[in-house]
Amino acid sequence: MTTTRAFAAQSPTTPLGAHSIERREPGPHDVKIDILFCGVCHSDLHTARGEWEGTKYPCVPGHEIVGKVVAVGAHVTKFAAGDRVGVGCMVDSCRECESCKAGNEQYCYAGNVGTYNGKDTHLGGHTLGGYSASITVDEDFVLRIPDGLPLDATAPLLCAGITLYSPLMHWHAGSGKRVGIVGLGGLGHMGVKIARALGAHVTMITTSPGKAKDAAKLGAHDVIISTDTAQMKAAEKTFDLLMNTVSATHDFNAISRLLKVDGAHVLLGVPPTDFPPPVVGRMIGNRLTLAGSTIGGIRETQEMLEFCARHDIVSDIEMIRMDQINEAYERMLRGDVKYRFVIDMATLKAA
Ligand code: NAP
Ligand code: ZN
Ligand code: ZN
Repeated sequence: MTTTRAFAAQSPTTPLGAHSIERREPGPHDVKIDILFCGVCHSDLHTARGEWEGTKYPCVPGHEIVGKVVAVGAHVTKFAAGDRVGVGCMVDSCRECESCKAGNEQYCYAGNVGTYNGKDTHLGGHTLGGYSASITVDEDFVLRIPDGLPLDATAPLLCAGITLYSPLMHWHAGSGKRVGIVGLGGLGHMGVKIARALGAHVTMITTSPGKAKDAAKLGAHDVIISTDTAQMKAAEKTFDLLMNTVSATHDFNAISRLLKVDGAHVLLGVPPTDFPPPVVGRMIGNRLTLAGSTIGGIRETQEMLEFCARHDIVSDIEMIRMDQINEAYERMLRGDVKYRFVIDMATLKAA
């Protein structure tokens, strides 16, 4: 084991601070990675602050990890020292169930092993994420960063990118489809870029009028301000697909009104409390689908990275130091991030 620098929350109400953790030495199938950058997902905040049930402390968040391989186990075939790699939201799964066999490890029937707050089957206790200097991961859960993609702005693709790519592919977003991306944050801005690259007509649906200009720059064809009832009314029954990335409980039934017959409303955001029930009459009267989706499988995540490399897609990032993380969480809550914070892990030493 190696003692490793990290940043952790010790309780739901304690700000994150410097902390020491143990990482395992690489086993035969493991890759040891020096972490260079780590994206800051709203799920990190939900987890660190105990907004979802079941956070284990000390909690080291971070599941948008990129870095360089520094050591590999004897049986590793896919990676070598020096490779540019990434780790997303999962570090293992059962590998035997129907979902795992289909490449959908995120839907493992036994539950995938989260990069943080999962069950650590090697060292015992719970897994610890990317707000740390290094991580050791089974090679089957490590992604290759395509040449040409800058490491820092690629980090957010490992969660925010795949969380939008997977459902956009599953629900066939593309030419001739009208896709609405609800909420312009980390997930939402990746959704706009990817849906546009897939050839869909893309509309940003936001509560923040100030983000309208950015939406166009990111690739949205148009914008709806969801707090403007006239705009919402005018857009009723015009969308095939809605990708809902909102991080707080909200009136998602008002958003569902925008769907055409046979439309699908895909829930991606995970607010701390559940939504009010759907309006059943509208659903059956328009053959609507209310759906959910989480991240994507490892194979699909690699495919997403290649897709982004081909289409020159990375995240719009604001680089922060490790010791700015608590302030970054507050800014994220205020919607004051364009559009993803990424931690320069070189700053962990001084933090
Ligand atoms: P984020 O950067 O904070 O963006 C969330 C956006 O939601 C905000 O920018 C804001 O957009 C909108 N919003 C916030 N509060 C709102 C409210 N009260 N009413 C309406 N809109 C509101 O967060 P993120 O990192 O993109 O994550 C979004 C959510 O997805 C989080 O709950 C996160 O845990 C979850 N998540 C899920 C998965 C998955 O696999 N399904 C993966 C990653 C994250 P506007 O200002 O444009 O309205
Ligand atoms: Zn995430
Ligand atoms: Zn499984």
